[in-house]
Amino acid sequence: MKTCCPHCDREIDTRNIRMEFGRNNAPKCPKCGGLVRPYRPYKRVVSVSSLVLGVLTMEFFGVKSVIWFALGVVMLWLPFALGLNILFQCAEPFKLEAVGSPRSQSDPVTRQPK
Ligand SMILES: [Zn+2]
Repeated sequence: MKTCCPHCDREIDTRNIRMEFGRNNAPKCPKCGGLVRPYRPYKRVVSVSSLVLGVLTMEFFGVKSVIWFALGVVMLWLPFALGLNILFQCAEPFKLEAVGSPRSQSDPVTRQPK
């Protein structure tokens, strides 16, 4: 899948993005080395919507016990969130967002002493 790097604006293939473990735990752009992560502006919408869907489902099945109601909502939250995430990803093309700036990694002031 092709996308654009938020640091250098060059087209990159998502298969070439490598995970960098260590101080900055984020994937790196293969062209400029800038730290990136998947852009998901709908993260909060998914959390709230899946919670609401969980509550509505428990209401629909007429669950009266508070404990079972809460347990059901929590258990339904994850599958609803996964489903909504897939829906949002299908609706919107894959984008990346910058994590910090690539300059700060080579900046001698912020670099950790070895
Ligand atoms: Zn880049």
